[in-house]
Amino acid sequence: MNDFLFTQVLTELEDAIGRENCSTKEIDRVTHSVDYFWLSRMWADRGRRMPEADFVVSPKDAQEVSKVLKIANYYKIPVTTWGGGGGTQGGAIPVAGGIVLDTKRMDKIYDVNTDSMYVECGAGAIYKHVEWAANEKGCTTMHYPSSLTCSTVGGFLAHRGIGVVSTKYGKIDDMALKLEVVLPNGDIIETSPAPKHAAGPDLNQIFIGSEGTLGIITKAQMRIYEQPESRKFRGFLFKDMHSAFLAAKEVLQKFKPSVMRLFDEAETVSLIKKIVGVQKPGAFMTLAYEGPKELVEVEEKIVLSVFGKYGAEDLGSEYGEKWWKEKITFFYPGHMLDIPQMFGTMDTIAPYDKIEKIYWAMKKAIETQFEHVKFIAHFSHWYEWGCMVYDRFIVEKEFVPEDPAEAMRLHNRIWSVGVRAALENGGVVNDHHGVGLKLGRLMKEQYGPAMQVFEGLKKSLDPNGIMNPFKLGL
Ligand SMILES: Cc1cc2nc3c(=O)[nH]c(=O)nc-3n(C[C@H](O)[C@H](O)[C@H](O)COP(=O)(O)OP(=O)(O)OC[C@H]3O[C@@H](n4cnc5c(N)ncnc54)[C@H](O)[C@@H]3O)c2cc1C
Repeated sequence: MNDFLFTQVLTELEDAIGRENCSTKEIDRVTHSVDYFWLSRMWADRGRRMPEADFVVSPKDAQEVSKVLKIANYYKIPVTTWGGGGGTQGGAIPVAGGIVLDTKRMDKIYDVNTDSMYVECGAGAIYKHVEWAANEKGCTTMHYPSSLTCSTVGGFLAHRGIGVVSTKYGKIDDMALKLEVVLPNGDIIETSPAPKHAAGPDLNQIFIGSEGTLGIITKAQMRIYEQPESRKFRGFLFKDMHSAFLAAKEVLQKFKPSVMRLFDEAETVSLIKKIVGVQKPGAFMTLAYEGPKELVEVEEKIVLSVFGKYGAEDLGSEYGEKWWKEKITFFYPGHMLDIPQMFGTMDTIAPYDKIEKIYWAMKKAIETQFEHVKFIAHFSHWYEWGCMVYDRFIVEKEFVPEDPAEAMRLHNRIWSVGVRAALENGGVVNDHHGVGLKLGRLMKEQYGPAMQVFEGLKKSLDPNGIMNPFKLGL
C-alpha cells in the first residue's frame, strides 16, 4: 500500500473507532505477529521478523467491529482477529498484512444469569475473568484449559478449545448457548436464542471453529454450573494401554467422570514421574468424579470394580490430587518444553475401534522416519464412543537445525508425516488446537469433496477473501 492510501485508510479507521484505538507503532505490530505457534516463536528467536500487520485496531463492541470490517471490505484489506495470541497453530498471525483486530477491549461481563445458568460476556474476555465472574455467584464455567489465564472466549470458540474436565462437561462448543457475530460485510447477527432447536442448521456451530475466516465473534453466552459438592481423585497404573482403554470405555458406558487421563508408558516414566511423582513403569491413569456426595461414592465404587477387573493397580488419591494441583501449569515452560527444543502437539480424535491403531501408527511413523525425534502421548478427553490422543513430538535442541528455513522444513515434515498417519487410520486433522496456518494444507486430505461446503460458505460470506487469509485451508 502506498503512503497516501495508507494514511487515508488510517484516518478512516481512526474516525470509526478513535485514534487511541488504532496503532501503526512497531511495538504493536511486532507483538501481534508472534503467537504460540512454534514456528513463529522460532522465527523470532532466530532474529527474523514475522509478517506484520499495517494497522492494529482495538474496537470496543460489535458496532465498532462492523465499521472496521466495512472499511476493510471497501479497500479489500485483510483482517486477522487476535484474541490472546495463545493459539498454537499460527491462526492469529497476520500473514497477509493489513489489519490485526485485537478483541481484548471487548472484555465486558454483561450478565451472570443463574436462572438459565449462563454468563454473557464480550468475546475478548480472558476466560479466567469469566470464571471469576461465575465464582462470584457461587458458580463455575467448568472450562479449565492450561491457557485459562491467557486465552480469550472468542479464541477458544474459534479454535474449538477444551479444558481438563471435558469428559463430564464437554468442549467449548458444548458450552456456547448463543453468539453475536459480525459478518465480513459488517452486518451484526445473533444466533438463535437457544442452542437446541429444529430451525435449520445450527448457526453457532458454523462460526465455532471457523477461526476468524467467516466473521468475528463479539459476544457469547457461555454455560455455567453449580460448584460440585464433592470432587474425588484416584490414580491407577495399568500394565499396558490396551487394558486401560477397555476399562475406560466400560466406565464411560455407566457414567461420566470429569477427568480421565491415560498416559502412555513413555510419558508415565518421564513427565508423570517428574511432576506427579509416580515411580513405577506402566500406563498411568488419573481420574476425577464429582457432583453430589452420594453419587460420587457410587461412581468411585464403579471405577474400582471395573478397573480391578482389568488388572489396574489402585494408587489411591494422592497422585490424582497432585495432578489436579498442576493441571494448569503442567505444560508450561520450565515444567517441560520450550524453544530452542522443537515440539508439537498433534492431537487427533477417533472412535475407540481406531484410536489405538492411530496411536501406534503415529508413533511408528514419527520414530522410524526421523532420527532423534521422541514421541510421547496421553489420552485426555473421552466420550462414550471414542477419545482423543494428545501426542507430542520432541526434538532436543542439538538436533534442531540452526538455519530457520531448515528448521521450518523439518518441523513441517514431522507434522505432515504424523498427521497423515492419523488420517490414514481414521483420525481427524486436529482435536482442539485448531487448524490455523499449520494444518491448512491437510484440510483437503481430511475432507475431500466435503471441503466445498466450507469453501462455499467462505465465498458467499466473504467474497473479497479478506477474513484471515491462508487459515483453515481456505
Ligand atoms: C501454555 C498453553 C496451554 C494451552 N492449553 C490449552 C488447553 O488446555 N486447551 C485448549 O483448547 N487450548 C490450549 N492452548 C491453545 C490456546 O489457548 C487455544 O488455541 C485458544 O483457543 C486460543 O485462544 P486465544 O484467545 O489465545 O486466540 P488467538 O491465538 O489470539 O487466536 C486463535 C484463532 O482464533 C481467531 N479468533 C480469536 N478471537 C476471535 C474472535 N473473537 N472471533 C473470531 N475469531 C477469533 C484468531 O483469528 C485465530 O485464528 C494452550 C496454549 C498455551 C499457550
